[in-house]
Amino acid sequence: MWESDLRQLAQKHLLRELTVLDSPSGPIMSVKGQRTLLFASNNYLGLANHPLLKQTAQKAIEQFGVGAGASRLTSGTLTPHHDLELALAEFTNTEAALTFSSGYATNLGVIPHLAKTDGIIFADRLCHASLIDACRLSRATFRVFHHNDVDHLHSLLTKRPPKQPTLLITEGVFSMDGDLAPLPELARLAKEFETILLVDDAHGTGVMGATGRGTMEHFGIESSNVYHMGTMSKALGTSGGFIAGTKEFIAYLVNTSRSFIYSTAPPPAMAAAARAAIHLIQQEPERRARLWQNREHMHQGLLAMGCHMTKTESPILPIIVNDPALAVEMSRRLKTQGIFIQAIRPPTVPKGTSRLRITVTAEHTSEQIDLAIEAIQHIGQSLKIL
Ligand code: PMP
Repeated sequence: MWESDLRQLAQKHLLRELTVLDSPSGPIMSVKGQRTLLFASNNYLGLANHPLLKQTAQKAIEQFGVGAGASRLTSGTLTPHHDLELALAEFTNTEAALTFSSGYATNLGVIPHLAKTDGIIFADRLCHASLIDACRLSRATFRVFHHNDVDHLHSLLTKRPPKQPTLLITEGVFSMDGDLAPLPELARLAKEFETILLVDDAHGTGVMGATGRGTMEHFGIESSNVYHMGTMSKALGTSGGFIAGTKEFIAYLVNTSRSFIYSTAPPPAMAAAARAAIHLIQQEPERRARLWQNREHMHQGLLAMGCHMTKTESPILPIIVNDPALAVEMSRRLKTQGIFIQAIRPPTVPKGTSRLRITVTAEHTSEQIDLAIEAIQHIGQSLKIL
C-alpha cells in the first residue's frame, strides 16, 4: 500500500531514512562503529552530553524517578517542573513560563489560544512545520507573507478586515536558513496594528543575545505584545519547549492548552537538566563566545570557496545546491570522508532549494572545522557545485 509512495519519493531523491548513531551527541560521533565529525546537530553549546547536566539528571532520577507518572494537572507537576518554569520566566524576563514536552507541542498548544477562530494569522513563509500545523489547528484564517518581507506584511495587514483579531508569527532564527527575522520592524507593525507577535526562538535560545536570552535580547526588544516561545531541545541540550508571558496568559493555557493538559508531564530529570543548562548558559558565557568563533571560522571558509549560502547570521550555515539528488550525493560523499552533514530537501525546505545544513557547535575544534572545509571544497568541486 505504501510501496508506490515510497518508490516515488525515492525516484525524486526525496526518500528519507534514519541513521543510527551509537554515541552521545558531540563533535565526534560514531556511526556503525565508524568515527565521524558531526556538523548536523542543534546542540549548539555542546550541552547534550555535559557532565553537569548528566549528574543533575541522574540525581533527579534518584530523587524523582524516571517518569512523572501523570499529566501536569493531575499529579505530574513535580518540583523540577516548577523550578524550571521559574528559571525560564527569569531567563526570558517575563512574569511566568509554561513548559511542554516538545517545542512542537508548545506551538500546537499555544497558537490556537493566541489566535481567535474568527481571526487571521500572518506567518512568515519559511516558518517551521510546527507553526504551520498550529495555525491550521487554530481554525483562524491563515496567510503567509514573503520571507522577512516587512512591506509585504504591511500591505497584507492594511487589507485585512477592520478589527479582525490578528496574530503575527515568525521565527527568531530561521531553522533551515539561519537568518534572523527583522524583529524590530515586526514588533513595530504589531504595535501599529494592535496585534500580537509570536516569536519562535527555538534556535535563538541560548545562542543569540549578549547573555544568550535569544533573538529578542539580540535586538533589544521588550514589548508586552511580543510573545516568546523557545525550546530546551537545541542549545539547552535537553528536550521540551516553553512559552513565556504574563501570569494571566500562562494560567489561561494551564486551563485550556490541549497539548499541555492531555499529555503526560515530561520526565522530571529532563526538567532538572534543562534548569542546569540555563544556569550554565548564564555562568559560562565563554561557551557562547566559542560557538560564535567557530561559526565565523566555518562561515568564512565556506564563503571563501564560493559556496552559495543563505543570508545566515547564526551557527546554521546552509549551502544551497538546489537539486535534491546533488544534495544527497554531496552528503553521502562527505559521510564517506567522515564528515556528517545532512541533506535537507522538500518539503522541509521549498522546492528547488535543497541544501546541506551545516551547524557548528561550541565544542568543535579549529582543526575539525578545517577538515570539514577541506572535504566540502574537495567534494563540492568534484560535483561541480563550486
Ligand atoms: N520550532 C522550530 C523553529 C524548530 O526548528 C523546531 C525543531 N526543529 C521546533 C519548533 C520543534 O521543537 P522540538 O524539536 O523541541 O519539538
